[in-house]
This record gives sequence, structure tokens and C-alpha cells, in this order.
Amino acid sequence: MAGDVPSDVAVGNALPVGPIKGHIYPLEVIYCGECSMPLEYCEFYPNYEKCKEWLQKNLPDIFEQKMKLDAEPAQGDEEKKRQKRGGKGMMKAKKKSEKEKKICLSRAPRGKKKFVTVITGLKTFDIDLKDAAKFFSHKFSCGSSVTGDDEIVIQGDVKDELFDIITEHWPEIDEDVIDLLADQSR
Ligand SMILES: [Zn+2]
Repeated sequence: MAGDVPSDVAVGNALPVGPIKGHIYPLEVIYCGECSMPLEYCEFYPNYEKCKEWLQKNLPDIFEQKMKLDAEPAQGDEEKKRQKRGGKGMMKAKKKSEKEKKICLSRAPRGKKKFVTVITGLKTFDIDLKDAAKFFSHKFSCGSSVTGDDEIVIQGDVKDELFDIITEHWPEIDEDVIDLLADQSR
């Protein structure tokens, strides 16, 4: 029934029922002749200047009021804008760091007594894998090839030497990011 408040609905947090203090009823919504939105939304219209012109021409009283309001919280607006910009920038930065930079070295048995050494993660340092494989091949005088999206396999057990060679050849790689993994089975 009209006017009845259902007892099972929590009204504590809801908007107060009835007139809100400081508002004149019925609520009058004035639509802008420029952007056709209620005046409150004009500032989000790309051509806000045009809206202001329209307002000044057609509703000078409201225009004056609005300009007064606009002038006062100007600092707050700036703050808001800056926060928005900062927020976006931070999201970008976060995305970049999501890709964790990590190098993994491990050995995998090849045949009965031999091992191959597997390196993953060089790509996270924007290192060209083909160049890297060539470099390892020269350095260890053995075969080395790119075997996956971010994986290089060196034909030989060079895991321990690799640690030094990598940090020496690519100074941007800190030894802390290199993980020596336990031997894996392939
Ligand atoms: Zn407008």
C-alpha cells in the first residue's frame, strides 16, 4: 500500500523518505539548450564553453550562480583531475611490473650421463633469444638453441658457469633474479 514501508527492508542506510531539506519541490530540472543534458552535467560535455554561453544568454541568473560555484572549488577540481591522471599512470606502471623479471637455470638429463642446461626468462629482460643462444654457443663451444617462447637449451652442463656469464654479459640482470633450479626431467 502506498506509504507503507515493508518491515523486512532495512531503511537505515537508504535515502531518507520524503522531501530533502534545502530542496524546492517539485524538483525542477533545467536542461541545457546546448548539450541537452541537465545543467549539472554540462561540465562533462566536451564543449562546456558553448554550454556556458547558452546559459549566460538564456538563464543569466543561473549562469552567475554557477560561475560562483565553479570559481570556489576550482582547487578541488584541479585535485580531482590530477588524481585521475595519476591513477591512470599508476595503472600503466602496474601493468608493466606485472611481468616479473626472472631468469631460471636448470639442468635436464640428456642420455645417460649428459645434461643440457635450460634457461628461461631472458625475454623478460628484452634480450633477443636468438642472439643469446648464439652467444652461449660461442662461449661454451657447444650447441645452443631457442626451444620455446622464452627458453634456450644449451647442449652441455654449464649451469654453474652460466650464472657468472649471464650477469657479466648482461649487467642489467641482477644475480638475485637468477634462480638455480633443481635438475628437471625432460
Ligand atoms: Zn550543456
